[in-house]
Amino acid sequence: MPCIFCEIENVIFENELAKCFYDKFPVNQGHILIVPKRHCNDYFSLKSEEKHSIDELIMRSKMLIDSIYRPEGYNIGVNCGEVAGQTIFHCHIHIIPRYRNDMDEP
Ligand code: 5GP
Ligand code: ZN
Repeated sequence: MPCIFCEIENVIFENELAKCFYDKFPVNQGHILIVPKRHCNDYFSLKSEEKHSIDELIMRSKMLIDSIYRPEGYNIGVNCGEVAGQTIFHCHIHIIPRYRNDMDEP
């Protein structure tokens, strides 16, 4: 079955084992997803060297988001499994910039 994250074209950064790109339906401005280049279902399937490559891209993404959007904080998160909210079964890490009062009720 084709996988959208295997075939993503608008890559922001990549290294040997990982790549990152903007979320198509961002929770907040600057929301980035970081994925291993190798297709695997979830975080628990990652090899340690892939985690290392992902971590490097988390830091590079933070620097990029800081410079463009100037957030005041971040959520970094991973959904593992359908019941936990995972909708795309190619492992991905969310890096979501946060701004004061950004999730307040209207
Ligand atoms: P999950 O709910 O599996 O943790 O997160 C999947 C994420 O992928 C969601 O935040 C969703 O907005 C994002 N997404 C869904 N389809 C696409 C797509 O085609 N391209 C990109 N860049 N992101 C997508
Ligand atoms: Zn994939």
